[in-house]
Amino acid sequence: MNKTGFIKYYVVGLTFISFTALFLSLNSSGDVKKLRQEISQRDQQIKQLMIELKEKDKKIQQINKEKQILVEKLKIIEEKIKKANKTLKRKGIRIRLPQGGKFIPAEEGKKLQIYADNLGKNIDKLLKVMSDIPIGVPLYGRITSRFGYRKDPFNGRKAFHTGLDLRARYKQPVFATANGYVEFAGWSAGYGKLVIIRHKYGYKTYYGHLSKIRVKKGRWVKAGTVIGYAGSTGRSTGVHLHYEIRKYGKLINPLRFLYLNRTNSF
Ligand SMILES: [Zn+2]
Repeated sequence: MNKTGFIKYYVVGLTFISFTALFLSLNSSGDVKKLRQEISQRDQQIKQLMIELKEKDKKIQQINKEKQILVEKLKIIEEKIKKANKTLKRKGIRIRLPQGGKFIPAEEGKKLQIYADNLGKNIDKLLKVMSDIPIGVPLYGRITSRFGYRKDPFNGRKAFHTGLDLRARYKQPVFATANGYVEFAGWSAGYGKLVIIRHKYGYKTYYGHLSKIRVKKGRWVKAGTVIGYAGSTGRSTGVHLHYEIRKYGKLINPLRFLYLNRTNSF
């Protein structure tokens, strides 16, 4: 092989190698491009997901915040239930709340629902008790004579007044102050036309000096039922209602039961 021949082969070989290298480099730069594209696509996807994740995080935080507020509000309701129960206790009414004393505000949704349900049950019980015990007024009228010792309006001597007198208009409606059974409906010496209602928890209420009785013995009445009309029958100096409350036979001051607030409970 002469020199020219060698150079010729050398050039051809070199060209071939260069082309191959160029081809390979072109090809590989295509791969890199593709790879870069893919990477940037993935990057984009990751960014998108991060945004979504952040939004979801925000929502979760929002929900947690709302839940916290809800738990706080439920706690306030729980406190109010306990307060109502205490008010009843001060009036000598002891009831057992169905879910009393076991309130543990829960973290999980389901427990929170149970918590709310329990509060609801307690409120139902309180409402039931409130209509079963004589709370409230039997007639809208000014108090003219209180419970306790007073001068007898007939003979001026010191005498014990067994109830509360409420000034009334003639035939003004008289309401039962609680659910219960009519134990007596008729004439009773000093009381004149009298209605006695027997309630739960040992309570009885007396409504005296009525002009007319609207209920019969043995009838079950709801709180708020008109049981008769005001009058001046029996030992009475004018139209008024004599209202009396007894618990297990013992006279108690009805003033404690006209209202539910603290000032009237003693
Ligand atoms: Zn009286």
